[in-house]
Amino acid sequence: MSHPNAPAPAERTGTALLSVRDLTKTFPGRRRLGRPSAPVRAVDGVSFDLAAGETLGLVGESGCGKSTTGRMLVRLLEPTAGTVAFDGRDITHVAQRRLRPTRRHLQMIFQDPYASLNPRQTVARIVSEPLLIQGSSVAAARRRAAELLDLVGLDPEHLDRHPHQFSGGQAQRIGIARALATGPRLVVADEPVSALDVSVQAQIVNLLERLQRELGLTLLFVAHDLSVVKRVCDRVAVMYLGRIVEIGDKRDVYEAPAHPYTRALLSAVPLPDPVAERRRERIVLLGDPPSPAAPPSGCSFHPRCPKAQEICRTRRPALAVVGSGAREAACHFPENG
Ligand code: SF4
Repeated sequence: MSHPNAPAPAERTGTALLSVRDLTKTFPGRRRLGRPSAPVRAVDGVSFDLAAGETLGLVGESGCGKSTTGRMLVRLLEPTAGTVAFDGRDITHVAQRRLRPTRRHLQMIFQDPYASLNPRQTVARIVSEPLLIQGSSVAAARRRAAELLDLVGLDPEHLDRHPHQFSGGQAQRIGIARALATGPRLVVADEPVSALDVSVQAQIVNLLERLQRELGLTLLFVAHDLSVVKRVCDRVAVMYLGRIVEIGDKRDVYEAPAHPYTRALLSAVPLPDPVAERRRERIVLLGDPPSPAAPPSGCSFHPRCPKAQEICRTRRPALAVVGSGAREAACHFPENG
């Protein structure tokens, strides 16, 4: 099924639909023993472009700033600094009321389907709501909601049911239908499968991949697990402590990672071949990620990095091209260059 807002194939390449520059989010510190603690820089100067029709996987451990980044892109969170440009227009500080015509093109799929769906509303109401906000009639919105249920693999006859009458995977399909209701061009999927049973995760990933392809969506897929985004994404960005430490084409990043942190994440992904799985080297990182309220000096990965040298403790590495040019890494000693 072709979507009315799907761009023609020729429009899907080349120009950036989304441009993010030096995006930063600082949260005030919590008060402890009556004194404010240090502010937390959850996102620290993130920059990337996303071409129309492209899928970028944004990956990293819990607390690395990836979900905060996703929320700023769709203006669910206000950035502390930096810019977000959508389709050539800076939307960083556009008032929410004036953003409404653009908002229909910026949608989000949330991690916990039950928490993100109003339990008292019917599926018809949940999926129609974005259309009603955009000025659709109730009858037209209901018709569209039925089409959307069909699109995401649910029975359109179930429009008058409530979220608790669906399984977790089905509830996430409802969340996806709602996100697609207004024909968005950019969808941010924030850990869309991490709250689901493993057996259901692949079905939802396959659904997102099909929808991305059929509708020509531009997709930012946020996940803590590199194996989850592998099937869907064209490019991958790996975040650590609020910064992108490696970004590049999927093949480069998965087959020849440049940053030690990417290598460690990939070494934890199970291999389908049991012999290869037994033989491969696991890179075990030391300790937990440091607090973003007190990031280490120099390269913030240095306390856990198996390759750290003296310069790593004092000088912060910038993102720089490694190898052929389709990938950048923030490391003084990148591999696979
Ligand atoms: Fe490791 Fe040094 Fe590279 Fe940081 S800059 S990732 S500490 S080798």
